[in-house]
Amino acid sequence: MKRIYLDYAATTPTHPEVVKAMLPYFTEAFGNPSSIYSYGQEAQGATEEARAKVADLIGARDEEIVFTSGGTEADNLALKGVALTNESRGNHIITSSTEHHAVLETCQFLEKRGFQVTYLPVDEYCMVDPGDVKKAITDKTILISVMHANNEVGTIAPVTEIGRIAREAGVYFHTDAVQAVGHIPVDVNELGVDLLSMSAHKLYGPKGVGALYIRKGTRLTPLMHGGEQERRRRASTENVPGIVGFGRAAELAQQEISQEVQHLTYLRDQLIKGLLERIDHIRLNGHPQRRLPNNINVSVDFVEGESMLLNLDLEGICASTGSACSSSSLEPSYVLLAMGLPPEQAHGSLRFTLGKWTTEEDISRVLEVLPRVIAKLRAMSPLLKGHN
Ligand code: PLP
Repeated sequence: MKRIYLDYAATTPTHPEVVKAMLPYFTEAFGNPSSIYSYGQEAQGATEEARAKVADLIGARDEEIVFTSGGTEADNLALKGVALTNESRGNHIITSSTEHHAVLETCQFLEKRGFQVTYLPVDEYCMVDPGDVKKAITDKTILISVMHANNEVGTIAPVTEIGRIAREAGVYFHTDAVQAVGHIPVDVNELGVDLLSMSAHKLYGPKGVGALYIRKGTRLTPLMHGGEQERRRRASTENVPGIVGFGRAAELAQQEISQEVQHLTYLRDQLIKGLLERIDHIRLNGHPQRRLPNNINVSVDFVEGESMLLNLDLEGICASTGSACSSSSLEPSYVLLAMGLPPEQAHGSLRFTLGKWTTEEDISRVLEVLPRVIAKLRAMSPLLKGHN
């Protein structure tokens, strides 16, 4: 049976061109970038070339990019780094209630150490209101962190508006752009951000490597001590093959982004339309227009997300319910609950995220299989009694 992978937001396959670019850095070009002889200089050169490509993708300067072990570390570095550096100026942080756990749990960690965090609500489409951000700012606010695109429902936040508000108030602004970079055009100057998190494995690069963009002049306390790498902002010998892979992935993303946005938007809209036409008691979650080109998130009444997922898997289709990180827990998605969905609807959610290798045939297959799966589950469902 052909397997159809529709969980590109969880991770993407590594692009064959990326693998090809990485391979020499495991073998003949294995040097440590800190070594002054030729092996080291070769690795150093490759790292800097990759840095330039990642910087270029988001309109940054090379020296504003710090490589990390992934999006989670980039988020931790941004939040803890700014918090610790600016402790004497203020202790207040503003974020939203639908951030990734990498931001939310870092905020909770900081709260236990005396920082105060405002978790802003979102509307029914998962949008943060920039007016709420403005109202929440106090003379103690040192950082605003609002994600660029939500990983569950794909809603794209009003980042530019929030950037303007942050700048006017003289407050640092971080955005977790792990789901946005490589998928929609991202420019740090247009967005007005001071810090921006990225992760290579969401854009056809390898796992275990990411980056934090740090605007020139933004001081951060490092998380890692013990080396001078990354201009003393992130100690530890660089993951050279990973960084090279990230660089190549960024380069490919830049070349292919407009064609990809068009391709994915078309397939996404086909799938949304088909699902809404073929299935009763179904709703689209997230913003109808301001959403990632590859994200479809629906709630289906009277069935559990997990049951749909398992039945789709039996038919060779890989999707997700909630986010990748919460897919092993049976709690309903906190993102959908924050958007005001009742727990039953949050439990019946299903996310398809499309990618480079998704075809029209894949979409047709989902549209053929899912109504059948739902009809079967509803026929057995105690949740349906009294509704038909
Ligand atoms: N932030 C967002 C929005 C994500 O979707 C993810 C991964 O799912 C992360 C952060 C964490 O990235 P990483 O897996 O590279 O640590």
